[in-house]
Amino acid sequence: MKKYVIAIDGPAASGKSTTAKLLAKKLKYVYIDTGAMYRACALETILKNISLKDEKSLQIMLDSIRIDILYSDKGNILLLNGDDVTKRIREADITKLSSEIAVIGIVRTKMVDLQREIGKNGGVIMDGRDIGTVVFPQADYKFFIVADVEVRAYRRWIEAKEKGEILILSDVEKELNWRDQNDSNREISPLKKADDALEIDTTNLSVTEQVELIGKAIERGKNAEIL
Ligand code: C5P
Repeated sequence: MKKYVIAIDGPAASGKSTTAKLLAKKLKYVYIDTGAMYRACALETILKNISLKDEKSLQIMLDSIRIDILYSDKGNILLLNGDDVTKRIREADITKLSSEIAVIGIVRTKMVDLQREIGKNGGVIMDGRDIGTVVFPQADYKFFIVADVEVRAYRRWIEAKEKGEILILSDVEKELNWRDQNDSNREISPLKKADDALEIDTTNLSVTEQVELIGKAIERGKNAEIL
């Protein structure tokens, strides 16, 4: 059976990673969180004390960076130059810096090359901002997941609370708005829906409903319309 490439793009906290993870489990596909790769790059600039304005040092860093993903049912593990940084890359300083580093052309070139290499044989669900538009414009299925910013902020807030971290809801919303703007307005590979992607608004959907909707669209075939 053909192993597809499934691209899921959308703004932060729209539900794409939760959906992609569950769907990958269901289809026995590999889940690739491309945001984690930009986060790893951001962390590396901190560890190596490199300014984002210093393209020469950035290029040297990109030439030697090793990002490995260990796939597991309990969630992927991200190794940066061999070290497990899965938790560290979710911290607030990295979240902001990842969006800042993601505007830089040489960083995107390197990440896109890695992503294409990982996905070249299919059987992958990749989520990000530019998967359907740039990384895999020929992806077999493309979804663009959106949700109102208030709902997205609330989801992030709850997620943090469950991990024992108390955030201020209005700060979470501000940070999401800032990132949406930064990701949508950058020159290279901005966050945008591919013309042939199916848009799904998850504002009023549960996780189960999201997974079902996408799963059914895949079962129905390539030109499926989501009503
Ligand atoms: O998906 P996540 O929120 O972890 O992504 C962190 C940042 O990485 C995003 O805000 C975005 O700037 C960048 N990113 C990107 N392209 C992708 C995935 C993430 O520019 N394909």
